[in-house]
Amino acid sequence: MKKLPLHIKIIIGLVLGIVWAFISSYLGWNQFTIDWIDPFGTIFIRVLKAIAVPLVLLSIISGVSSLTDINKLGKLGLKTLVFYLMSTVLAVGIGLTLVNLVQPGKFVNEDQRVKNRIKYELWVSENPDVPQPKDGRSFLQEQKYQDLVNSTMNEGAMDSLRTVAEASNDKVDQLSQSAEETTKQGPLKFFVDMVPENVFGAFSSNANMLQVIFFALFFGICLAMLPNDKVGGVISFVNGANEVILKMVDIIMKAAPVFVFALLAGVIAKMADTPAQVWQIFKGLGSYSITLLVGLLFMIFVLYPLIVSLFIKKLTYKEFLKRISPAQFLAFSTSSSAATLPVTMECVEENMGASKKISSFVLPIGATVNMDGTSMYQAIAVVFLAQLHMVDLTLGQQLTIVLTATLASIGSAAVPSAGLVMMIIVLNSVGLNPAWVAIIFPVDRILDMFRTVVNVTGDATVSTLIAKSEGELNVPDDVPANK
Ligand code: ASP
Repeated sequence: MKKLPLHIKIIIGLVLGIVWAFISSYLGWNQFTIDWIDPFGTIFIRVLKAIAVPLVLLSIISGVSSLTDINKLGKLGLKTLVFYLMSTVLAVGIGLTLVNLVQPGKFVNEDQRVKNRIKYELWVSENPDVPQPKDGRSFLQEQKYQDLVNSTMNEGAMDSLRTVAEASNDKVDQLSQSAEETTKQGPLKFFVDMVPENVFGAFSSNANMLQVIFFALFFGICLAMLPNDKVGGVISFVNGANEVILKMVDIIMKAAPVFVFALLAGVIAKMADTPAQVWQIFKGLGSYSITLLVGLLFMIFVLYPLIVSLFIKKLTYKEFLKRISPAQFLAFSTSSSAATLPVTMECVEENMGASKKISSFVLPIGATVNMDGTSMYQAIAVVFLAQLHMVDLTLGQQLTIVLTATLASIGSAAVPSAGLVMMIIVLNSVGLNPAWVAIIFPVDRILDMFRTVVNVTGDATVSTLIAKSEGELNVPDDVPANK
């Protein structure tokens, strides 16, 4: 057992966790799992997150202060943002192509979809600010649908949307509330939020990573501007403390397989009471889930490894996946790019061979703003929901989705289910009902695991490519971080 490489041990923990969850729900031991196993998963995520804030702070400060040329930093920053933006737009584009080809919404029977469309028209008539459906057709007025109109009116416009998510009603209410709050935000809110009011507030339990990054960049730049005899002590303190954090990551990762078991067992035990229920939920939203999974798996297993192997000879398809796998498995089990960040950094530095200078600057920013999986998911989910309601989106609307899904993924926090809340913005932008997020809610937790893997792999890909283009990549022969 000792000789097995880390990623294999993590896979074993992962599989055992899933197997345990199914056995325990079959035997009615779910409560035991939730009380006695799940807390260890929570502890694991907490430790990782506790490390994430000081790690981002210290590694950015140490990275930036070592760049003596401020102009170079500006160029690197611009390059980073352009690369990240390109990868996100590409992901949205692939997602939109896929969902338009497969049309998962049309797998639902036609009667139900006509009903949905009628409810949508009722909702539009109650909300005069939203743009009218673009096809100019009104199902409400059409004679042949009058029976359906009457039965739908009696049901109440929101009811059937909620039935799918009945089991999780509280969560749906919370979502509708955040929907309202999110829609009220002004266009520059993102930039305002980036600047902390109080630095220590930014490091607090509701840590806002962008605020931490902002402060770290500012601090690091000033450190670089001051003469060494004045700030030399600060620089060596930051570098030393950074080493301590990296050691902590090392130790945590040794225990990861056991904690991953607890995480998976807990997540699935909380999702549904019986395996049959899990299956039921999936069946209803199967066409959507499968379309999204195909897109996400394409990114993980085709696009990223091929792009990397194209530009970097030594990182062949197999090597790339092998070297990034610990971060991928962790992303899958934690559903949080922020919690995975320490390990992503370790993989990119030690396994891919990117210099610290590059990875410590590019990766923390990526974990916060670059979410290819989340943006693809938002695009696919919105178009699916439109299809489910017989709303045809025009090319203009689809382009709006590209823009807003990109922005919404940048604005999503790197924690579980953040993407679901931000999708409300995308729905709003094309005049669709934000309450529809409740429909896809039941399968969201599982899909979140996959899209977080894409988010993390995308960050690793971009940072490796940037390191290569800056001449800061030195691919090692073996894979130290997987040991
Ligand atoms: N869980 C995702 C992440 O942390 C964000 C999301 O799409 O919900 O990367």
